[in-house]
Amino acid sequence: MSQNAPGVSRSGSLPTLGDNLELTAGAERRIGERIAASIYRDRDYIDDPVLEEYVQTIWQPLIAAAKARGELSIELDERFAWELFLLRDRTINAFALPGGYFGLHLGLIGAVSSRDELAAVMGHELSHVTQRHISRLMTQQSRQTPWMIAAMIIGALAASKGSQAGEAAMVGGQALAAQSQLNFSRDMEREADRVGFGVMTDAGFDSRGVSSMFEKLQQASRINDNGSFPYLRSHPLTTERIAEAQARLQLAPPAADKAVGAAQDRFFHAMMAARARVLADPGVDVLRTMVAEAQRQPPPVQAAAQPSAADIRSAGVFYAGSLAAARLRDFQLARYFAGRLGALTANTPAAGKVGLLLLEVDQMAGVVSPSASGIDISKTASRADLLVQSRSLLAAGRAKEVGDRLLTWVTAHPKDALAWQTLAVAYGNQGQNVRAIRADAEARAAQLDYTAALDRLKAAQIMMRSNPGSADFMEGSIIDARTRQVESLVKEQALQDKLDR
Ligand SMILES: [Zn+2]
Repeated sequence: MSQNAPGVSRSGSLPTLGDNLELTAGAERRIGERIAASIYRDRDYIDDPVLEEYVQTIWQPLIAAAKARGELSIELDERFAWELFLLRDRTINAFALPGGYFGLHLGLIGAVSSRDELAAVMGHELSHVTQRHISRLMTQQSRQTPWMIAAMIIGALAASKGSQAGEAAMVGGQALAAQSQLNFSRDMEREADRVGFGVMTDAGFDSRGVSSMFEKLQQASRINDNGSFPYLRSHPLTTERIAEAQARLQLAPPAADKAVGAAQDRFFHAMMAARARVLADPGVDVLRTMVAEAQRQPPPVQAAAQPSAADIRSAGVFYAGSLAAARLRDFQLARYFAGRLGALTANTPAAGKVGLLLLEVDQMAGVVSPSASGIDISKTASRADLLVQSRSLLAAGRAKEVGDRLLTWVTAHPKDALAWQTLAVAYGNQGQNVRAIRADAEARAAQLDYTAALDRLKAAQIMMRSNPGSADFMEGSIIDARTRQVESLVKEQALQDKLDR
């Protein structure tokens, strides 16, 4: 593409740019997939089913609202991934990537005070993609091949955190990386603010989340940006942006009165934000501070059916204290704080997640959870429940039940790498090694590592041939078919790499 006019790839036959000089959705998705593949291999990428499920409760309504408003076209909806990556990073940041991939730092989830604030940021980022800002930016870079653009963004992501793993990933994009990932223009930022506001309010979030998020960022910029607010660098708070947001708020219809629901949401959010702060790996000293804070917290008097501000705060303190204590390997204290949280959240929608916290504490302690005996996983519907419960049941020697339920799950969700990985363990525990290797292969394929997936599928084929009793006919033909499919994906990827370079 570099030497040719836009619209014609180097091969001269495969157009990558549309007539309007916008990158086609397919070309943008391929660039995104290359970046996604490198994020999956990054040690800071974290698939935490509990947090993932929580952010999906914000993300899915935003996407639905963008569709209903006509901001998100049917074509883009089908072509793009619309996938969120959680990143183990304490700084406050969220960003959109080509092809409908998005990054969300745990630091951001840990710092916002409500799901409305998170929805404000996510709605803004979503709108950068639906308004095709990324494709316009990349078109401006049309002297560069898609491969170079992907390398540049991967390099910029790595540089923005400066980890060692990141340095290794800096291929050829170093100079460009210095000028940061994707620099949207002022007009694009204003458009993302405007569209994002409409999307988040249509999705049912409280529009005041925008102003409280702005206040938070403003405070941070006043104190001094010590590098923990990368979001501020890519999104400077101009007086213009703030004024426009305030004007929009005044015009917005008043938020419907859903006081009880809103309080319950904040209650649950406080727990999830606490979880994000602990999973962000804050270091031993911070974990100890969290434990100390939970120790000072008075025990709850009664369950908080209508949580007060103090209850909401307590929920966060007990959740953080429990998980932090478990990380410091004081499991008794961890269970004690989880018990306090259980008393506070009894009969509220948040109670189920306290049960998961207790299961996790037992998993970290390496003991079979007493509450595991009451779990009927065949009835479990939520992904977070399923994956956390699976681990507990595997520890309790109930691999058959876990395998059966997870097989149904991956049939409906074939791109769920963590579910495939857990299924591989369930098969392995039952001595079904061919199935275990195939499940592991599917986990790799789901994370776009087709070469590794193919290696494993071939290993499964060798095992079947050397030991004919190791897999039944059905499993054998699935493996042969998948090997052929993945083989052609590997070839396709290599060919595309060549064209895009
Ligand atoms: Zn922006």
